[in-house]
Amino acid sequence: MSGAIAELADLLARLPGIGRRSATRLAFHLLKANPEYVRRLGESVGALHDRVKRCAICANIGDDDPCAICADGARAGRAICVVEGVPDLWAIEEAGTFHGRYHVLHGLLKPIDGIGPAELNLATLADRVAREGVEEVIVATRPSVEGEATALLVKQTLAGLGVRVTRIASGVPHGSELEYADGRTLIRALDDRREL
Ligand SMILES: [Zn+2]
Repeated sequence: MSGAIAELADLLARLPGIGRRSATRLAFHLLKANPEYVRRLGESVGALHDRVKRCAICANIGDDDPCAICADGARAGRAICVVEGVPDLWAIEEAGTFHGRYHVLHGLLKPIDGIGPAELNLATLADRVAREGVEEVIVATRPSVEGEATALLVKQTLAGLGVRVTRIASGVPHGSELEYADGRTLIRALDDRREL
């Protein structure tokens, strides 16, 4: 197979969870779909890297830098919630119980895969705590070996700053990703947080 459809199928097949056969089916589906929709899809994909920015303060991903949360003065001070990734931030925002700011690590400590402290977005956290007058840092990494190790690393990073460091309760099922926990579970995990 060669030509436009084969090329599109090749590109689609590189997406996670899309096998060879699904990719071909999707390519033919797009051929039959509304041309206006197909054009918008293409433009949206093409502009993705130009439109999406990483917040220089918290490393959240969005349309603006600083992100809407860091730009919101009402969220200043009090607390920073440390999360593994942006989907976790979204899940906590959706639960609607936390009104502080975030710090996105973009990963968890996993030495066996070569992910050490330097690979995480952690270097600026201590500065932020001092500069923003933060009273509490809530570590909301998932309850797994990597999540616990990362929580301890955050605690060590902030040692001596006089900031309260807490850890969400393990109401979230062990090892599971925060982003899949339902809102009520997340609210309870945050409410029942303990000193780290
Ligand atoms: Zn931000």
